[in-house]
Amino acid sequence: MARWFPPRDSSLPFFCVVGQPIAHSKSPQIHRAFAVQTGRVLEYVRAEVAPGALADAVAEFRAAGGVGMNVTLPLKEEALGLAATSRPRARMAGAANTLWFELDGCLAADNTDGVGLVRDLECNHGLALAGQRILVLGAGGAARGVVPALREAGAAAITVSNRSPARAVALVEHFEPWQVIEVLPWGGVPARPFDVVVNATSSSLGGVLPALAPSAVRSTTLCYDMAYGDGPTPFQQFTRTLGVAHACDGLGMLVEQAAAAFEIWHGIRPATAPVIEQLRARLAPA
Ligand code: NAP
Repeated sequence: MARWFPPRDSSLPFFCVVGQPIAHSKSPQIHRAFAVQTGRVLEYVRAEVAPGALADAVAEFRAAGGVGMNVTLPLKEEALGLAATSRPRARMAGAANTLWFELDGCLAADNTDGVGLVRDLECNHGLALAGQRILVLGAGGAARGVVPALREAGAAAITVSNRSPARAVALVEHFEPWQVIEVLPWGGVPARPFDVVVNATSSSLGGVLPALAPSAVRSTTLCYDMAYGDGPTPFQQFTRTLGVAHACDGLGMLVEQAAAAFEIWHGIRPATAPVIEQLRARLAPA
């Protein structure tokens, strides 16, 4: 009996996003817009899957003719663990947000969060990451996903700061073989302001601000919140009060990481700007 996916009467290529909660996910909207843009017809649904149940959900998805699955909180680590094969950046992050079945039936995994952030910063916000000193607030799955991509984009130094210090230390130790990163105590005062500050905590979701010393930024620092909403997030508002001119939200990253997943599944890269614009217009209060 189907537990996660409704019985299907179509033979369209079948995709989904899973997580818990999932009702808020904009992935179906984004992937349907990419499909229209690239002349594809597909079916893309959301399914609420609890931690520990992903293996069964993947099996049901496969039996239902599934092609590609996006994975969000809190299942990204579980997703990587299930995959028979994975891209290096997913292994480096220790988490996957994109799954698909290879021609031989093997479950494959990738993590497109990092490339999504880098493309949003570089292509949509016009920032060249090479040589930048970056502070990443948070040490959860999203931070792990973006640190390797920021390094690969040429960041000169990456500093991590997290509310629970042990998790920041664990992140730095995890990346030690590949990256040069350091820890700043939560709310700590750095030697000099950063060029870029990325809020990779989920604090904005609860309307809470991450601890950030005012001297960590200057007017030219680009402040980026991975969260997004129908207006500026608390982090965007706060950093603007510190005099930061460029404070942006994570809507562009959401669309860019989806575009990277779409490219893996369909072999074609969709244009992201019109989809970001569409979502932004739908989010705006009436
Ligand atoms: P996670 O693994 O659960 O990690 C949550 C992080 O947020 C931890 O570092 C945690 O610190 C911190 N945190 C939670 N509540 C906090 C608070 N009140 N004050 C300070 N720090 C707090 O989650 P995740 O996967 O890393 O996701 C983090 C955020 O990024 C979420 O909001 C998610 O929606 C967003 N995200 C956006 C995109 C996008 O495309 N725009 C992609 C991925 C993720 P502790 O370790 O101290 O608990």
